[in-house]
Amino acid sequence: MICPKCGTDNPDDTLFCENCDWRMDMPFRAAKKRNVNALASAVLICGVLSIFLAFLTAFAGIALGAVGLLIGGYAINAVRIVKPDNEKILVVAAAAGLLLSMVGFILGFAYI
Ligand SMILES: [Zn+2]
Repeated sequence: MICPKCGTDNPDDTLFCENCDWRMDMPFRAAKKRNVNALASAVLICGVLSIFLAFLTAFAGIALGAVGLLIGGYAINAVRIVKPDNEKILVVAAAAGLLLSMVGFILGFAYI
């Protein structure tokens, strides 16, 4: 039985791939992988921008910080479910974005 994610040939009765732990009965969609890359990047960008914007326009910093916080939690869960090859990097990027968004959010309130 060929793993739909990594292509490793596993014994026919295996439920999880011996190489990548993918569930053998779940189809792997490469498109989803690209989505989590974009999602984690978006969280990181939101976080960085929210801090910059907090200094310029407090409300923009708060708004973008809130967006970063919302999609940050979703992004970390999505990365863990999809399990891409660069899972660790994406989780770190999303977590950093989440943290930066929180800082931008708080800074925005401090500058009102
Ligand atoms: Zn596999």
